[in-house]
Amino acid sequence: MIKFILILLIIGGCSQNNQKIDIPSFDEEQAFQHLLDQCSYGPRNPGSEGHSNFSIYLEKYLKNLSSDIIIQEFNYLEHVTNIERDGKNFIIQFNKEANERILIGAHWDTRALSDEDLNENNRSMPVLGANDGASGTAVLMELATIFSITSPPIGVDIVFFDAEDVGISGQPTTYAMGSEYFSKNLPISKPNSGIIVDMVGDKYLKIPIERFSYQIDSDTVKELWNLANDLSLSAFEYTIGYEIYDDHIPLWENAKIPTIDIIDFDYPNLFYNHWHTQNDIPENCSPQSLAQVGTLLVNYIYGKTN
Ligand SMILES: [Zn+2]
Repeated sequence: MIKFILILLIIGGCSQNNQKIDIPSFDEEQAFQHLLDQCSYGPRNPGSEGHSNFSIYLEKYLKNLSSDIIIQEFNYLEHVTNIERDGKNFIIQFNKEANERILIGAHWDTRALSDEDLNENNRSMPVLGANDGASGTAVLMELATIFSITSPPIGVDIVFFDAEDVGISGQPTTYAMGSEYFSKNLPISKPNSGIIVDMVGDKYLKIPIERFSYQIDSDTVKELWNLANDLSLSAFEYTIGYEIYDDHIPLWENAKIPTIDIIDFDYPNLFYNHWHTQNDIPENCSPQSLAQVGTLLVNYIYGKTN
């Protein structure tokens, strides 16, 4: 009897080991380098030299990783400047055959105006967007590298949205033109769910649950925040925060892709904000913050079984 139990335990142990997927680690220094690289192009607001030069860089970067790339071009009104623009969403797909698919998105454009700057003279200047633009994009670039080396167990569609930060302050639906176009003209088969990352580079990262996200997909929110707790990722706070209109809203409203937003709007804190100011610079961001979100997403994706 004892022997029998022992054999069972050994078999059980082995099969468990066989099933276990090695979860890759998220390289925070490499991710932060992606943030610095983006900022080295200067502000990347639509129509700027930085925007067009970085789009060439991003396209090359992605094509080096995979041939499963879609570039979705579109026209839109940049509401904040009232100028018609051409936009580009970049999509890179991994484990393309999988039926269960998740979209992971971020915006790669930055804002044309620093309209929240305390110094009035700065308000007509474009934002460098180390956090608001580069941080989410940096996490996605590093995730794409990881998925290109170790194929994820479910399908992953990484989308770099253009033209998110083009809206008029106080008029939410004038933002997120890239995700608006994408959600109304899906260039890929519809993913089962989505996660947006935005403003995740803050040195003093604190990520409460974004309120709309909880309304849209509370199960995924709970799963992610519980996983963050299991992984001791202390930036994640199990409290409900602000309602934020971000790229997740058009995805849900137009395409019915339940999508949540991982965002830290208080940059750096409740009392003072670098958001949409000249202070949105790499010095106010950190590699460790990118790693909080990158590590969570890597563990979430590789923890899935198909
Ligand atoms: Zn913004």
